[in-house]
Amino acid sequence: MNAVVFSAEWDPRPSYVPTPKELSSGKATMACHVWRRPSFTWEKVPDPRPGPDEVLLQVRACGVCGSDTHCYETDDAGYVLFSGPVRLPVICGHEYAAEVVEVGKDVRELQVGDLVAGEGMLSCGVCEACRSFRPNQCPHLEMLGFSAPGAYAELVRAKERFLWKLNGLAERLGSRDRACEVGALIEPIACSYNGMFVSAGGMRPGSYVAVFGCGPIGLGAIALARAAGAAKVIGFEVGAERREVARKLGADAVFDPRETPADEVIRELTGGWGADMIVEAAGAATLTMPAIERSFAPGGRMVYLGRTGARAPVLLDVLVTQAAGIVGARGHSGGGCFPQIIRLLENGRLDVEGMITRRYRPEATLDALVKSTDRTDAKIMVTHARELPDSENSAA
Ligand SMILES: [Zn+2]
Ligand SMILES: [Zn+2]
Repeated sequence: MNAVVFSAEWDPRPSYVPTPKELSSGKATMACHVWRRPSFTWEKVPDPRPGPDEVLLQVRACGVCGSDTHCYETDDAGYVLFSGPVRLPVICGHEYAAEVVEVGKDVRELQVGDLVAGEGMLSCGVCEACRSFRPNQCPHLEMLGFSAPGAYAELVRAKERFLWKLNGLAERLGSRDRACEVGALIEPIACSYNGMFVSAGGMRPGSYVAVFGCGPIGLGAIALARAAGAAKVIGFEVGAERREVARKLGADAVFDPRETPADEVIRELTGGWGADMIVEAAGAATLTMPAIERSFAPGGRMVYLGRTGARAPVLLDVLVTQAAGIVGARGHSGGGCFPQIIRLLENGRLDVEGMITRRYRPEATLDALVKSTDRTDAKIMVTHARELPDSENSAA
């Protein structure tokens, strides 16, 4: 089959000493300390074979993630920007939906022909974190498309326990192609769901919600806040195209934070109350935290989903005066995230198709990666659909 293979040189930074485990496994815990001079090629690789508890999947759609972009991009010294675990070479791509084409002998719930969305956090299921319902914190975590073969490929194999059926969604949309494109959006939306509703404990209907950063994670947060009954959703985003998509997905108002002071406009639009839930999906904490700390409603919660290695200044006193809280979250596994998003989609309570702003054919995945470095699109989708829904904004 054909696939996108991601390689780089193992060349630890002079300031970084790899751990014995990293050396024996070849898996860097933080790719940005070790992997240098990345290359991406579209090439022929052997077809995967499913194990007894696995299925073989024909990939139908795979979204381009900011993490993929961070593997493609490097700093001045040539190191990849991505800070997660990576073992190379690997077939990349992890936000996918696919059709089951073969099932292992121990597979119980899936059949040939089922459409599925796949989780990318491959937790072990055995360690204490996994058995304490924290699969995203599994110390043995493998990540599809980073340390295990991913979905920028014609075929991928996956354990049954990481897959969720999309058959009902295909029925609702009347199209298997559309169901797979929407299915490939579930992974980033589930990161927002996990942060807002699992880590931060959720929100009441009638809440005021502020979302910083309207890339796919922020857009997912906006759509979920709307579905969960937010009284008002206020977005902040520097990109004009993304602001437009944020409005489409349910934000009541979206501002460029460089032009409009976020805390002032949040106070104004909430009658002075502030935001009950704040989502930081910009990964720009040094810039967003000063405004966020002035925007908490009494009892407000902030969930930090963006990533940055920089220390951000926060006046913790505000957590006392407003009885506010800050939590973080990573990943999308467990907590019912995938199945509950699928229920919302299947029942017409969540409409996120507008998040897809550009499409590429699988053989043009490298072009899609290059395009993603612009950071103007909301979600770029690599689609195996025979007919592209909108040829106008599609490439190759
Ligand atoms: Zn992703
Ligand atoms: Zn585990």
